[in-house]
Amino acid sequence: MYESSTMSEKMLKFVDLGQQTPPKRGVKERKDDFNEIYKEFISPKAKEQSSRCSQCGVPFCQVHCPLSNNIPDWLKLTAEGRLEEAYQLSQSTNNMPEVCGRICPQDRLCEGNCVIEQSGHGTVTIGSVEKFITENAWEQGWVKPIQVKEERSESIGIIGAGPAGLACAEELRKQNFQVTIYDRYDRSGGLLIYGIPNFKLEKYVVQRRTQLLEKSGIKFVHNFEVGKDASLKDLRDRHDAILISTGVYKAREINLPGSDLANIFPAMEFLTASNKKGLGDKVELFDNGTLNAKGKNVVVIGGGDTAMDCVRTAIRQEAKSVKCLYRRDKENMPGSAREVQNAEEEGIEFVWLSSPAKFNGNNKVESVEVNKIMLGEPDDSGRRRPEIIKDSNYIINADLVIKSLGFDPEDLPNLFNEERLKVTKWGTVKIDYETMETSVPGVFAAGDIVRGASLVVWAIKDGRDVSDQIIKYVNSKRKKKVA
Ligand SMILES: Cc1cc2nc3c(=O)[nH]c(=O)nc-3n(C[C@H](O)[C@H](O)[C@H](O)COP(=O)(O)OP(=O)(O)OC[C@H]3O[C@@H](n4cnc5c(N)ncnc54)[C@H](O)[C@@H]3O)c2cc1C
Ligand code: SF4
Repeated sequence: MYESSTMSEKMLKFVDLGQQTPPKRGVKERKDDFNEIYKEFISPKAKEQSSRCSQCGVPFCQVHCPLSNNIPDWLKLTAEGRLEEAYQLSQSTNNMPEVCGRICPQDRLCEGNCVIEQSGHGTVTIGSVEKFITENAWEQGWVKPIQVKEERSESIGIIGAGPAGLACAEELRKQNFQVTIYDRYDRSGGLLIYGIPNFKLEKYVVQRRTQLLEKSGIKFVHNFEVGKDASLKDLRDRHDAILISTGVYKAREINLPGSDLANIFPAMEFLTASNKKGLGDKVELFDNGTLNAKGKNVVVIGGGDTAMDCVRTAIRQEAKSVKCLYRRDKENMPGSAREVQNAEEEGIEFVWLSSPAKFNGNNKVESVEVNKIMLGEPDDSGRRRPEIIKDSNYIINADLVIKSLGFDPEDLPNLFNEERLKVTKWGTVKIDYETMETSVPGVFAAGDIVRGASLVVWAIKDGRDVSDQIIKYVNSKRKKKVA
């Protein structure tokens, strides 16, 4: 432990030292490409900003981090220049600290609960320091593949190579299991690759991680769709336990007159096409202009983070105009305030308190008829209910409409040909919350397919937790065999 005088020399500098985030690239420059918009901390800045931490007895940042990251300790190590130790500590609770540092909604999690933020000094920029620590570790060669000395005879099959599946795989491999991950996509990473755009998370960051897992001996089987290429039972027969971490992909629909006109797309189709293009793939619907916003009047319907990703993608594709239609006001938007601000800076027009009534056009959409909304009494969720203002409708021109109204799970029992797999009334997979096992013995589930659409950091947490439960299950089977 440190003497308090030494501690205060190195830390608690929040009164004298102002808060700084890594600089954002200028709006014009960032609209010209899809690269991340935040620059990196340089080492002295990361050390300086870490020293603002007040080293609270009860660190609320840690309490509100889903992974319970030991934030005050790695901030202190960073302030002292002990960067390898800071990295070792940070990675001991998080399989992808450089991803979380970039895309966690820190304002709602760690940073939003920082005590010096509450006292008006501006939070410690925890996310940026977390990103710095791990990026530095990659540069220094401290991030290494897992070395398995004695591989266990048991193998675990994981369906879905998103953050939940990847985190579970890594933890299982550390315990010497054989691990195979099946994914219906041609690349690993789930929504980190095909959902989240480059300007929030560049793809090399994800690919560097999945390559490390490959080097650690985890097998990846791509273009393999469970339900089509094998049933759940087939996989269960091949492995000692199975994890379902398939995420949620069924787009919520909007049933209005004209919904079937051409050029009205769900958000994931638009984002996947753009991400694939960025990865150098041939994407016919993009190349022939259908899924490309260039020169078009684009209307995005919805107010969550996915909607923000769509509007900001459209502006980078050189759309003529980009409007975001949301039925509540700015204060009641579900999306992160930081992302709304970034979108506003980039020239997106927000049409608050508005909801679509009808799509007009001949074959292709040409305009959206919009109703104005006022907010009424709070509903069951406590949010004020949107109510249509009579005779308030007006027209917005649109050549491309993107629907971003959220996601539901696919019908997994049907898809996987497994009637025993129980789901909730929302279609998410039911698990025993202690063991994380589903209603099918030896089959576990984690991530968005259990929680519904959530966050990367929660998927990682679930992936780590479920690895513990799978190990317990396999060990108890092994004991029974021996007995
Ligand atoms: C556009 C968008 C932006 C987002 N932005 C953020 C953000 O900024 N910050 C944040 O924290 N979260 C964000 N999220 C949420 C976050 O991406 C998810 O919560 C997280 O990826 C869930 O992880 P997962 O592993 O459960 O599922 P996923 O990442 O969805 O991965 C599931 C994997 O399973 C595979 N799969 C599905 N069905 C099958 C099958 N039958 N057979 C084989 N493979 C299958 C899929 O191909 C996919 O690779 C965003 C989500 C979206 C859609
Ligand atoms: S994982 Fe997310 S919530 Fe936790 S410390 Fe990092 S940025 Fe904050």
